[in-house]
Amino acid sequence: MNAPKPFSAPSSIASLIVTDSLSLRGALQRLDETRGGPLMLVDDGGRLRRMITDGDLRRLILTGCDQDTVLTALPLADPVAASMTTPIAELEALFESVQVTAIPRLDAGGVPRVLERRGHAGPVLLSTPHLGDLEQEFVQQAFDTNWIAPLGPQVEGFERELADYSENGHVAALSSGTSALHLGLILLGVKDGDRVYCPSFTFAASANPIRYERAIPVFIDSEPGTWNMSPAALERALARDKASGSLPAAVIIANLYGQSADMDALMALCDAYAVPVLEDAAESLGASYKGRKSGSFGALSAFSFNGNKIITTSGGGALCGDDADMIARARFLSTQAREAEAHYEHRTIGFNYRMSNILAGIGRGQLTVLDDRVARRREIFELYRSALRGVEGIEWMPEPPGYFSTRWLSAATFNPACGLDSARILAGLQSVGIEARPLWKPMHRQPVFQGYEFEPHSDGTVGGLNGDHSSVSDVLFATGLCLPSGSSMDDATVLRVCEQIRFWAEG
Ligand SMILES: *Cc1c(COP(=O)(O)O)cnc(C)c1O
Repeated sequence: MNAPKPFSAPSSIASLIVTDSLSLRGALQRLDETRGGPLMLVDDGGRLRRMITDGDLRRLILTGCDQDTVLTALPLADPVAASMTTPIAELEALFESVQVTAIPRLDAGGVPRVLERRGHAGPVLLSTPHLGDLEQEFVQQAFDTNWIAPLGPQVEGFERELADYSENGHVAALSSGTSALHLGLILLGVKDGDRVYCPSFTFAASANPIRYERAIPVFIDSEPGTWNMSPAALERALARDKASGSLPAAVIIANLYGQSADMDALMALCDAYAVPVLEDAAESLGASYKGRKSGSFGALSAFSFNGNKIITTSGGGALCGDDADMIARARFLSTQAREAEAHYEHRTIGFNYRMSNILAGIGRGQLTVLDDRVARRREIFELYRSALRGVEGIEWMPEPPGYFSTRWLSAATFNPACGLDSARILAGLQSVGIEARPLWKPMHRQPVFQGYEFEPHSDGTVGGLNGDHSSVSDVLFATGLCLPSGSSMDDATVLRVCEQIRFWAEG
């Protein structure tokens, strides 16, 4: 089911570039095919000589030229152009001051590399919300029935539909992915002083809830094949902790950038040591592993519907599992642990973690477009990969056979041995208004988690508190970037980002 579909990238601006041996008819056809161009006339060295709009060609016809006239007949006109490094604000000022619909960015040799179009030159963001057609309808239902807050039929509908989609028996809709992870740890019995394993390469929200319960995080390295938790490191840590009688109370496994961890290997180890798994599937809704949905492997699993995730409720999360009692308990704890009495009766400490009926309405609408969003994010990833094929040293996040990633964020490493410098590329992109990010900074390098143990992927690596920088997660952080990946981005924008990456990669 997971064979990558054949993909051919449209070249970014090649179809707009013409030389003056082209005929008037050829230029008109080219304008037609490229939906209005404008075309860029270049000399033998590829340097821009002038822009050609349909108005220019019309004027040429009006002077009496026939369709076989070649473009040398056009007068030379100094093109309005920017450089590859012109900041967005300057570009927009240029659009304000001149009457053109498109401005090419030229490299130092005068060769056009990117065409910026009026109204589309603005910032490119990493991952923005992308609403469908049904969200408003579900939210309107909530308004019409005055089920604004807190609970109601949209919450129940969302829980049922998410359970079906994610292949979980039961779902509790919550206020965030972080609250889902927190309740997950409580339900798995994690207490003050317990050890909890957690990936080092992840977002801090995977690890923070361990500290909410005053438990002790033990950070586990990634493996190169999936970038997720290393089975080798997990096995070593479990064996050592078993020997010293300090097995963890739970293992958190995260599925990053839209891809499952190696669940067969990781679950087998956790089962062998009888340690329960809490799956952090905040970034992997819609992904699957060997035909089974990501977020259905752990005893409990957490999803996030934060604004930058593949689908969003503006802010929200869910805790999922097959144990009906545990999920019922999550609902109870998330609504202030109020007992079923007429008065307010409390026997345990509760939380205000429930999702509202309004937000669940947005979530129901978003679930109906989730598979489309996954398909588009995968397309964007393939576009990056094919458009940047020529740049040596870019290694894309692998997707092993049997894995189906959503490519929530297109992520790659930039090999310094090939002369690539991810920090320079990041700063360059930022300077022209393109938002990229380094890959997650490992938790064992975070100031807030200093002093906790770290288990590296390879036991030849010096890990731990004063280790060198050669663990897998350290290398990912030092060399990797995630690129703009929002499902509402069009191909032209992705290709514009690619040209900028290529430019800054060249140094
Ligand atoms: C986003 C995210 C979370 C937290 O989800 P929120 O809904 O923002 O609280 C947890 N873990 C990972 C890996 C995430 O990416």
